[in-house]
Order: sequence, then structure tokens, then C-alpha cells
Amino acid sequence: MKDNFIKSKKLRILEEKLNHLRQKFRDKNDFKTVEAVFDSKTLLALYKLFNDGYLDILNGVISTGKEANVYWGVTPEGQDVAVKIYRISTLDFKNFLKYIEGDPRFLSIGKKIHTRIYVWAQKEFKNLTIAKKVGAHVPTPVTVYKNILIMEFIGENGLPAPLLKDYLPKNPEKILEIVLSDIEKLYVKGHLVHADLSEYNILVHKEIPYIIDIAQGVNIQHPNALNFLVRDIRNILRFFREEAGIDVPDIADVFMKITGLNLYEFPDLCEDT
Ligand code: ADP
Ligand code: MN
Repeated sequence: MKDNFIKSKKLRILEEKLNHLRQKFRDKNDFKTVEAVFDSKTLLALYKLFNDGYLDILNGVISTGKEANVYWGVTPEGQDVAVKIYRISTLDFKNFLKYIEGDPRFLSIGKKIHTRIYVWAQKEFKNLTIAKKVGAHVPTPVTVYKNILIMEFIGENGLPAPLLKDYLPKNPEKILEIVLSDIEKLYVKGHLVHADLSEYNILVHKEIPYIIDIAQGVNIQHPNALNFLVRDIRNILRFFREEAGIDVPDIADVFMKITGLNLYEFPDLCEDT
């Protein structure tokens, strides 16, 4: 009886908060989509970010990826921001719901799934902070709360800058130079390897490349750090050689400049070169 009462009170408060949240969406259909995609924990986290003054309006979705959706948000000061919301994979979640309904023992599984995606968002925030500090071109991180990351919006008037893969830069040599120098800054000063770098995770804005999507970045002490580094460099060189059609430096020279190591002394790193 008392439990039911507490539960219905909680639900009422949730419903009230969601009503407030609803007002924050310029397009009501956007809210419906968000409501359909995210669980109530995420909606409450979003609500807190509005309340704490990080967001004033949430506009449409920019991208719906495998693990996260990215939205165009506006701060109370009128600044555009990118709001990346990590999802509990729909599959995980549906599976999980099958188990928990009516069974309190499974609540801890729910907690675990949530904690895992929270860690992911925190990692992206932390890596962005390091990258920014060492002078790499990345969106400036603003804040992270639970599974929601807010960062500088790369683009104009709510239109995100194009991905490198969709945009032929006017001066590809210059773009390549900046990307390689950012990989070096990340490695040498930030002790970080992006580990998923390619033309799919670089935005080009005003002829400057911005590296994004850095949650999986690893410390250079990671046992596979050098493998990831070589793969990142290889992806970038391949894109500029094959798609942009420019002369690119030798991978071993780039690797040497960044790490001070001889690539040919690591036979397993050379396989696809
Ligand atoms: P995913 O894990 O889905 O690949 P990303 O971090 O790569 O997530 O972001 C997905 C897309 O969202 C990007 O390709 C880009 O179009 C857009 N995006 C991400 N971050 C920003 C940002 N800071 N500014 C503008 N657009 C962004
Ligand atoms: Mn990506």
C-alpha cells in the first residue's frame, strides 16, 4: 500500500518533469522521438541539464548512430552546442526488460548497463578535455552528466560541419598536416591514441579539421596502443592518397616522428602497410 503510494508519487513527479522537458523542445515531434528512444533515467538526466542552465532548447537530431544520438542544443546564452546522448543499445534494453519485469533481483543488471554507458560518456569527456588541453582541434567539452555529453557545436546555424569523407577540402595538404600534427599532440603530450580515427570521425569547418568521437581513445600504455596508432595513421594516409589524390608521407616516417620508434622493428604492426 505504502509502496504503491511512493511509486505513484514518483511517477507523478516524473510526469511533471517530463512536462517541463517537453516545453524545451522547439518541435514537439522531436520530443516524441526522444521519449521513444530514451529511458526515463536519461530523460531525467536531460531535465537536470536544462535546470542547471546548460541547455535552453533542444532542436532536432543531427545523427542517430549505433551507440549514441547527437542533437543540436542551444544554451541560455544563445550558444549552439552538440548534445551527445549515449543509448543503452536497444537490443540490450529490450532483452533486459524481458527479465526485469516484476523481478526486483534484476534491477542490479539495469544498474550495470547504465553504469557502463555512463563510463563511456565520462571517458569521451575526459579524452576531449585532454585533447583540448594539448592543443588538438576537437570540440571544446562543456559538461558531462550520466550518459549525456555537451560540447561545442562544430558548424553554423545548427548545420553541422561536413565529415571529411563527404567534403573535398580546398587545401587537402594543409588538412592532412593538421590531422597528423593533432595525432602527434595527442600521443606525445596527451599520452592518448584516438583508436577510431578516419574520415568518418573528422569534421571540416572553415577548412580546419576537428577530430570527434574519442570515447574509445586509449592511453599509450594500453597493450594495443601502437596497433591503434598505426591503424589511425594508415586510415588517414589512405584517405588523402586515394580520395584526395595527394602525395602523402611514408607511414614509417610519420610513425617515427610521432613515437620516435622504428615501425619496421614491430613486424606485427607492418602487416598491411
Ligand atoms: P557516433 O558514435 O554515432 O559515430 P559521433 O561522435 O561520431 O558519434 O557523432 C555522430 C555525428 O554527429 C557526427 O558524424 C557529426 O555529424 C555529428 N556531431 C558529433 N559531434 C558534433 C559536434 N561537436 N558538432 C557538430 N556535429 C557533431
Ligand atoms: Mn563517429
